[in-house]
Amino acid sequence: MEFRRVLVIDDEEIARISCRRVLEAKGITVALAAGGREGIEYLMRNPVDLVLVDLKMPGMDGVEVARRVRDFDPSIVAIIITGYATIESAVEVMKEGAYDYLPKPFTPDELLIVVERGLQKRRLEVESTALREEKAAMERNFVTMVTHQLRSPLSAISQYAEVLLGGMGGELNETQCDMLGRIQHRLDGLLNLINDWLDMSRIQSGEILSRLQRVSLSRCVKDAVDGFELAAGEKNIRCTVEIPPGFPDVQVDPFTFRELLNNLIANAIKYNREGGSITIRAHEKKDWAVLEVEDTGIGIEEKEIPFVFDQFYRGKAQEVRTQTGTGLGLSIVQRIVKAHGGKVEVRSRPGKGTVFSIYVNR
Ligand code: ATP
Ligand code: MG
Repeated sequence: MEFRRVLVIDDEEIARISCRRVLEAKGITVALAAGGREGIEYLMRNPVDLVLVDLKMPGMDGVEVARRVRDFDPSIVAIIITGYATIESAVEVMKEGAYDYLPKPFTPDELLIVVERGLQKRRLEVESTALREEKAAMERNFVTMVTHQLRSPLSAISQYAEVLLGGMGGELNETQCDMLGRIQHRLDGLLNLINDWLDMSRIQSGEILSRLQRVSLSRCVKDAVDGFELAAGEKNIRCTVEIPPGFPDVQVDPFTFRELLNNLIANAIKYNREGGSITIRAHEKKDWAVLEVEDTGIGIEEKEIPFVFDQFYRGKAQEVRTQTGTGLGLSIVQRIVKAHGGKVEVRSRPGKGTVFSIYVNR
């Protein structure tokens, strides 16, 4: 792309033609329009890099043209030719989205300087947009790459380990069993890390706000809780959901919101005591729906609270160290609520339990 297409909009024929002569001599492609409306129509059908428009015209004036150019494509540069080079008129046209102005009368050189500068701006803008898009596409590719090239083989390895452990590849002695068990444990850790990481990049892509839906909070919570039946059972943990019937729907992206719930419930089980309990409640507070996940677990020391939402932060307590984890869960939770325009709070009593509160829009 060359970025040398200029549209001149002026009701005076002489002015249009002389602009065209000056610009074409420098290899710029010029189109002419005799009025604002005609100019905008041309712009919507043809590629244009810069619009040079007269301020005073019958019908649609230069300020209005600049405003419409900006609405149509903010990277197209608008330059206004004004007969009254007063500060006020200049300020006014710039406010409406014009990039520059050119006071009348002007010399061919003055015209060229302003137009070349405008075209340069347009080129930079289009190129940086293209770079940004390319970067986003690379990030997306990277996510796909990680999913297919890393996660799939790891899951396959993990499945083979499981088959071997089950004795389906022949009988194993105790040492072999032990080693295979360790292999599988490490693989699980790695797979968790990759899954967390994939979640993060999905959230970062900033698509959450466009996927908001009204959903029933108690439905979401119950579905998530059901997924943990086994894990909770292993530790004899009872999980109760106390969301009043008729509680207003919330505005969330169901997929990532589920991810958020999974992380909070997983923590409430992992850092709970044998035979403990989890209670999930909801109440309304101003415009918010507040969801609380409360556990009767080990709690969090006050000095650790400021860090728990940091990436890769893991508690220092012995009870935490003996559990596998990467320290990404709560940072994912925080990203998800923030992407929803909400917030998360935590209060805890060491040795007694912890409550995480999620604020989302009703
Ligand atoms: P993973 O990435 O597998 O979730 P993780 O659980 O260690 O690892 P986070 O979920 O981010 O990481 O939690 C960070 C830390 O916060 C934990 O290591 C733990 O110390 C503390 N923590 C989180 N939830 C609780 C909870 N319900 N009770 C007590 N401590 C908690
Ligand atoms: Mg966690």
